[in-house]
Amino acid sequence: METVIVIGGGASGMLAALTAAETRGRRVILLERQQRVGRKLLATGNGRCNLTNTGAAPENYHGEHPDFAVPALTAFPPAAALDFFHSLGLVTQEEYGGRVYPLSNAANSVVDVLRFALEARGVELRGACPARSLRREKGGFAVVTDSETLHADKLIVACGGAAGARLGGVTDGYELLAPLGHRRTKLYPSLVQLVTDPDYPRALKGVRADAALRLLRGRDCLAETRGEVQFTERGVSGPASFEISRAASTGGEGLSLVLDFLPDYTDTQLRALLIDRRDTLPELDAAELLTGLVHNRLGKMLLRYGGLKGKDTVGLLGDRELARAASVCKDFRLPVRGTEGFDSAQVTAGGLRTADFDPATLQSRLVPGLYVCGELLDIDGDCGGFNLQWAWASGLKAGELR
Ligand SMILES: Cc1cc2nc3c(=O)[nH]c(=O)nc-3n(C[C@H](O)[C@H](O)[C@H](O)COP(=O)(O)OP(=O)(O)OC[C@H]3O[C@@H](n4cnc5c(N)ncnc54)[C@H](O)[C@@H]3O)c2cc1C
Repeated sequence: METVIVIGGGASGMLAALTAAETRGRRVILLERQQRVGRKLLATGNGRCNLTNTGAAPENYHGEHPDFAVPALTAFPPAAALDFFHSLGLVTQEEYGGRVYPLSNAANSVVDVLRFALEARGVELRGACPARSLRREKGGFAVVTDSETLHADKLIVACGGAAGARLGGVTDGYELLAPLGHRRTKLYPSLVQLVTDPDYPRALKGVRADAALRLLRGRDCLAETRGEVQFTERGVSGPASFEISRAASTGGEGLSLVLDFLPDYTDTQLRALLIDRRDTLPELDAAELLTGLVHNRLGKMLLRYGGLKGKDTVGLLGDRELARAASVCKDFRLPVRGTEGFDSAQVTAGGLRTADFDPATLQSRLVPGLYVCGELLDIDGDCGGFNLQWAWASGLKAGELR
């Protein structure tokens, strides 16, 4: 009987095992380092699991050769992923931006349906069973665990990346495959908080705002987006900052973040609005000029940042001061020191070099019978369900064992 071992019971490994187990007469063993499968999945989407994105397209994926992801993503697009989960009994709902969550709003629903399916298909689950080393042997592979050496005709490695260290993100996959000749690119944390000069963010800790963001190196714009940001002790978090974090992580030194807190107003419109405010609310304390327009603490901080203080009331502010206030709302700059590390990151940018794998099958070009899927490969997605979509699609592709 053909034996297949899957190393890693995360999103991609579970899909790979389920797919491999569709072939009758095949023994499929799934090894998971942690006590139970799907531990990281439980933490995804703030515990709700944003399991896919209906708008997922090749442009949402990155790596040295992002096109590598196309065959797997095309063969198993979001609609197919949803059909698959619905067939397992999971009911889903789509939210803004094409993000899909379980209707239960509980990530454990996703893990549960996968676990039940693994059981139903006869996959042998081994929890708390890390693979320590691998070697090739005649006709297959030997996988060494703490208690025994297992033998497989075919091997699927789905150990994930280094991100989310507290949830089991490890570098095992790269280390297990290095002796077989597989090399990795440099690794960077992605979908992670930006670390900036802390002075202003610290004063704004906990404040959320909708903003347009640009990440600059000198005058070059490396990335831009719009959405919610949240200020933290050390910098800027929130979905919008996550979206540009890959560029911040890989962009080197000398970066700055420019925030526009009123992106729907032009400078001229905003100046006119503030002049009108001076006319209609002249008795208002000058420190409250931006109150009602942006978050109260943010408004006061922006005025301080713009050097606007000392006047008692709004009525005493001159046109130049109002123009300055308008400009700081639209051009608030923070020097970027980098990003938080792998502990806090949602995904690893970089991974095993994709040139060493066939994109049509995810089989190694160096070691026949070896397949790799998920975040372990040098493919990472944007924020919004794209990484799990890659995990499902690549897991299914690897599990076909073509
Ligand atoms: C906090 C957080 C929130 C996230 N939210 C989302 C989201 O909402 N939507 C989204 O699309 N993506 C999200 N992601 C990213 C997504 O979870 C990952 O990209 C995805 O889980 C990768 O799947 P994977 O199978 O490659 O790796 P993983 O899911 O990490 O699974 C790898 C598994 O391999 C096991 N393993 C490692 N080494 C060994 C070994 N030596 N032997 C045996 N087992 C081993 C690990 O314990 C782990 O269970 C989030 C990530 C984090 C950290």
